[in-house]
Amino acid sequence: MKQAENSICPVHKKCGGCQLQNMSYAEQLEFKQNKINRFLKKFSKPLPIIGMDNPYHYRNKVQAAFYTGRNGRIISGVYQSGSHNVVGIDSCQIEDVTADKIIVAVRRLMPSFKMTTYNEDTHKGFLRHILVKRGFATNQVMLVLVTGTAMFPSKNNFVKAIRQKFPEIATVIQNINPYDTNLVLGKKQNILYGKGYIEDVLCGCRFRISPKSFYQINPVQTEVLYGKAIEYANLKGSETVLDTYCGIGTIGIIAAKRGAGRVIGVELNGDAVRDAIDNAKANGLKNIRFYKGDAGAFMREVSQESERPDVVFMDPPRAGSSKVFLDSLIAMSPKTVVYVSCNPETLARDLKYLTENSEYKVRKIQPVDMFPHTNHVECVALITHG
Ligand code: SAH
Repeated sequence: MKQAENSICPVHKKCGGCQLQNMSYAEQLEFKQNKINRFLKKFSKPLPIIGMDNPYHYRNKVQAAFYTGRNGRIISGVYQSGSHNVVGIDSCQIEDVTADKIIVAVRRLMPSFKMTTYNEDTHKGFLRHILVKRGFATNQVMLVLVTGTAMFPSKNNFVKAIRQKFPEIATVIQNINPYDTNLVLGKKQNILYGKGYIEDVLCGCRFRISPKSFYQINPVQTEVLYGKAIEYANLKGSETVLDTYCGIGTIGIIAAKRGAGRVIGVELNGDAVRDAIDNAKANGLKNIRFYKGDAGAFMREVSQESERPDVVFMDPPRAGSSKVFLDSLIAMSPKTVVYVSCNPETLARDLKYLTENSEYKVRKIQPVDMFPHTNHVECVALITHG
């Protein structure tokens, strides 16, 4: 195998995040195209994958774990794959450069603010993780300190010090996570500075992002992905559109701006739904509603009503959709279904079910490389009646 364009990351093996490091970017795209073809060509010939012009530092969301070594030195970085050992790392080729710098700066400030690292075995100590999100279009940065305990005596001075170094930090949040868990964020949070959220702009629409709500991590390619999804929906102006698994409402809001008659979104995560409602307002949209709940249960309810949607967007998590969802989709039979998927395996499973149990046919499959250097790949599929 050929060496990648830039030098291989020194912690590549331990971290395990960039599984395709050993390939050039062109080879990575070919590898992903082959994978997509293997899973999906039986439905429709996949289009050529859309890659990035600059496939580095694309991640707008960065997390770091903290650990104190035997010599008392604080390390920040990522968990070694499959373990809870922290691998020290100051910069990463796929992460946002500013986010990485902020994490290093926090680590360097810790001793002077008497901030210790949290120990998962003894449950003692303070700082467990840092989460940084940056709006690439707005340059607003969110800094979340995940702590094992609530007490944070030096918080005001700490906020002052870190903001002095990085004035783009628009909000600082303390999230308290004392639980024995693999989840980074706990339930409780205190806003230490700013509004508790940041904003970003995608496809001409403004979006609010909270610590917990899902937001696509590669905004450059998200515009490409959403652009395809909207193109496939072929909106004329009077359609009723469902945006299922809608997160903070991105796809539905862009569809509403591009002329959908009426948009209804559904999402399981309450924080994301709240953001979606605010986002619709911030974009001056009145023809859009959001519901909190399971997308499958919601679809079953809608399928029993007399009014039918014309277009259904679906963007489920890696596990794919559910049988209840797909059965209800078949029952309500919208003219157009646009399936955005981050997992070709579950996309293939769901397309098989749909095409075997209805007259639906897959018309187009467009792969988009949202996650260069990793083995993940996103697809948009257009599904209409035969
Ligand atoms: N369309 C959005 C979010 C896609 S990620 C975007 O592009 O930003 C998938 C979303 O599905 C997440 O926000 C997750 O919280 C949500 N989700 C997971 N299971 C769900 C379910 N059973 N019903 C509704 N939403 C669900």
